[in-house]
Amino acid sequence: MSEICVVGSINMDIVTSVDEYPKRGQTVFGNKVSNSAGGKGANQAISCSRQGKKVSLIGCVGNDYYGEKLIDNLKRNRVDTSTIKRDGVESTGQTTILLDNQAENTIIYVEGANKALDEKYVLDTLSTLTDCKILLIQMEIPSNTVLEVMKYAKQHQIFVILDPAPANAVTDEMLTYADVILPNAHETELLTGITIIDEKTARQAATIFLEKGVSQGVLKLGKEGSYVFIENKITFIEGIKVGAVDTVGAGDCFAGALASALIDRQQLLAAVEFANIAAALKVTKHGAQEGIPTIEEIKSFCH
Ligand code: ATP
Repeated sequence: MSEICVVGSINMDIVTSVDEYPKRGQTVFGNKVSNSAGGKGANQAISCSRQGKKVSLIGCVGNDYYGEKLIDNLKRNRVDTSTIKRDGVESTGQTTILLDNQAENTIIYVEGANKALDEKYVLDTLSTLTDCKILLIQMEIPSNTVLEVMKYAKQHQIFVILDPAPANAVTDEMLTYADVILPNAHETELLTGITIIDEKTARQAATIFLEKGVSQGVLKLGKEGSYVFIENKITFIEGIKVGAVDTVGAGDCFAGALASALIDRQQLLAAVEFANIAAALKVTKHGAQEGIPTIEEIKSFCH
């Protein structure tokens, strides 16, 4: 039975590289197209399973080809998919990414079946996962589902990790149910109004989170590392210097690794050190999911 439950999005990412973006009504030749499995929920669940953890993903895909493919991919990655809903109306969530020759991205995101992940389904399913000790949740699903699931988790002594991405749908009420929050620099700014440039500003942001009812958090700053706050104590964890080739999904890898370390009863600071290594290894490889390191790779990096 799974000790970690991830509730979140499952998407197919379709990346087309082009020399020039088409103008409205124009057809252009693209250079290459590739499909890759994505969605913050799916990425984070795979990050947990690569750390050897039993993990269930509660999410929703359509009754279509992409839905089938994405579930197969999760199964291959040893994620419990029996908790995934198939929606008969909406199609599987999809991002269409146009990548131009200056490495600029233009993205169209169709939430599709992710928006059919209703609170009743999630609560009924979560109530069957009686071994669940940690809930890992993000914001690419309906916000009332996020709120109700967090509330349920708190009532049932399940530890709640909130990755507040995208941050615009996060409410103050949600924050009162989070045990740990994992915002990046942009999300911290949106949620607290503070731009982090040093320890003083990190402390100001942490104080605002504390006032909103979140007592622990990791303020992620990409390759710089992160500020961790535990009540009023702030600690800076320096980023690990690596040759980065693809930072997409670094935050998801980080979140899954953090949840996995916490399941092993590591303290938050030790868990952040571990997640920091996992995410640094991820950025040295291509692919939001393929690049996530295994526990063995992390251990051999540490030795
Ligand atoms: P994402 O790009 O997946 O949305 P995010 O915006 O949520 O990620 P970031 O702060 O960009 O979060 O990165 C998360 C973590 O990944 C960082 O705290 C750090 O541990 C690691 N990381 C990101 N970029 C690099 C890098 N270039 N070198 C080393 N570590 C990195």
